Amino acid sequence: MTPNEQFDAALTDEVPTLDTAWTVRWIRRSAEVLATNRAALNTLDRDIGDGDHGENMDRGFQAVLPKLEGLADETTPGAVLKLVATTLISTVGGAAGPLYGTAFLKAAGAVGSAESLDAAALVALMTAARDGIVLRGKAEEGDKTMIDAWSPAVNAAASAQAAGSGVAAVLHAAADAAEQGAQAAEPLVARKGRASYLGERAIGHRDPGSQSTALLLRAGADVALVAE
Ligand code: ADP
Ligand code: MG
Repeated sequence: MTPNEQFDAALTDEVPTLDTAWTVRWIRRSAEVLATNRAALNTLDRDIGDGDHGENMDRGFQAVLPKLEGLADETTPGAVLKLVATTLISTVGGAAGPLYGTAFLKAAGAVGSAESLDAAALVALMTAARDGIVLRGKAEEGDKTMIDAWSPAVNAAASAQAAGSGVAAVLHAAADAAEQGAQAAEPLVARKGRASYLGERAIGHRDPGSQSTALLLRAGADVALVAE
């Protein structure tokens, strides 16, 4: 299918499923966007944390890139997600390393050995990622953490899928909701992570983890219709 055909298919909701090539594009685009936003994420974290979130995320995703070269033809989307998980766990550090590592590990488990992902599989992937972070970090929505981006994203993706949207529309719904969720959490006090030490001084600041989540989910949506 050409990119134009894919785009037309998306508009009519007759979207193709996404495959390993999409998963690789998603991670590569994420690495690119996190590198571009490294300083901005550090600045957000300097305001309500210790200033290293951009550095942490950039280091982790840069470490994944060489591992995406020369993947075997039979590599599944789940295997790529697992590779991301293990790399993030071993390279990111801080709070975000184990949290994002768990997210990608659970996402890998949710898609199993499927060769392609339909809209329902994408919802399952994102739901498992969010649930993994909650299991690990015990944050609830409203605690001003990355969960404030993940949870609205999962809800929006599930609603879009239930309404019959295809893969691209589901990913775009998730990205839009994550961005809105990150913004909606700005007026909140943080109840988890380093920012929770600041009490009311965290009010009015954007949580760096919710911002990196919004960037990751936007990257996935942006490459949904782009051919390699
Ligand atoms: P650290 O806080 O160790 O320096 P990072 O700066 O890389 O780690 O990541 C900070 C981000 O991690 C926060 O902005 C927040 O979104 C997220 N975070 C911290 N603790 C939790 C938690 N318990 N649950 C979910 N997310 C959390
Ligand atoms: Mg930090």
